[in-house]
Amino acid sequence: MTTCTCAYHDQLIEIRRKLHTFPEEGWSEFTTTAFLIGKLREYGYEVLTGTKVINPENCLGRSQKVVEAGIEAARKNGVSEELLNEMEGYTGCVGVLDTGRPGPTLAVRFDIDCVPVEESKDESHIPAKEGFASTRPGLMHACGHDAHMSTGLAVAHWFADNKGELCGKLKILFQPAEEGVRGAAGMAASGIVDDADYFLGAHIAMMCKSGELSVNPYGFLCTTKLDVSFTGRPAHAGVEPNAGRNAMAAACNAFVQLLGIARHGSGMTRVNVGQLTAGEGRNVIPSHALMKMEVRGETGEINQYMYDSAVQIIQGCALAQGCEYKIEKMGEAVDLTNDPELVDVLKQAGQAVEGLTVREDPMNFGGSEDATILARRVQAHGGKAAFFVIGADRPSGHHTARFDIDEKALDTGLKVWTNAISLILKK
Ligand SMILES: [Zn+2]
Repeated sequence: MTTCTCAYHDQLIEIRRKLHTFPEEGWSEFTTTAFLIGKLREYGYEVLTGTKVINPENCLGRSQKVVEAGIEAARKNGVSEELLNEMEGYTGCVGVLDTGRPGPTLAVRFDIDCVPVEESKDESHIPAKEGFASTRPGLMHACGHDAHMSTGLAVAHWFADNKGELCGKLKILFQPAEEGVRGAAGMAASGIVDDADYFLGAHIAMMCKSGELSVNPYGFLCTTKLDVSFTGRPAHAGVEPNAGRNAMAAACNAFVQLLGIARHGSGMTRVNVGQLTAGEGRNVIPSHALMKMEVRGETGEINQYMYDSAVQIIQGCALAQGCEYKIEKMGEAVDLTNDPELVDVLKQAGQAVEGLTVREDPMNFGGSEDATILARRVQAHGGKAAFFVIGADRPSGHHTARFDIDEKALDTGLKVWTNAISLILKK
């Protein structure tokens, strides 16, 4: 089963390092998308982008300001107007390659956005030492999505080179805005995976070390990301404070009470208010407050409980201050159960890689992933889906300034991917 993937080693490292230098935030990845489209076309793929792969009605947490800055940066980087027009203001793309032989359709997904973290310039941090650190202040590929993209392109290249040995069709999804779990809903709603018989997604590192492969992770927390705005009425704080309606007070009361939502007895829960901005000036009764928050739960039901409790608190606190409130959904992920058929495929794919330990025991992923939305969509249409974790040693945690990955994991990951694809799309 194992085909040699050594031919793609240099490409894996080179592309990962190149993309690492130019991180782009969710929904602004125009330069990145242009690069991915170019490579996919070079390998002979039909490439879909723009509203063909993103349904604008289901875009979550997409700021027009960030989008415009991304388009501007792409122009500066020499991305053509023709390509920008093709993207229609939406990042991400899908490469499709048909072997020409009847067989299943397999959709594989790789995420492409970065994290708002300032990368370490310390000499002991390998990207800084070897000259491929982020060139963009305050932005960094600090979650490994650079590695995901280079793996995705190597998978694409390998598949194009080996399609004579395989059957069916491969769809390679490069999904924008995974951070904050915002991008998958729009991609799923475009219908791009509705014809998929199989779906696979993966993350590098997380809870797995180099040389480990987790084929059945659990604990993909369901989550809902919310922007909550409180609107009161401004008034002179000395002359007639009684005429004001204090939005900051409403937000602060809500903040404290949100942290106290009674935990659910049936599973894990989380709640966080990560940002709170309010007020206009020292002597004005604050009439605006904006709270960026999230809830999580082990199952959809528990997440719903957290969400409902949060809404109740927000309503109550707004009412107490005579304020209005608006709740806007900014991101969403669901839980996932891997289909046993694909767990078995991944197990075989991993066992065929020398020196790799296949972990079938349930390992806690511990975060949220919006690949689950695409997986759920495929499962709802009768297809099979699975998500796995390719281990990689890392000097520091995900989303931190010194995050980096052991690049040897790229070769291992590619072997697992190509073995799995060979098993699913064998002639
Ligand atoms: Zn990530």
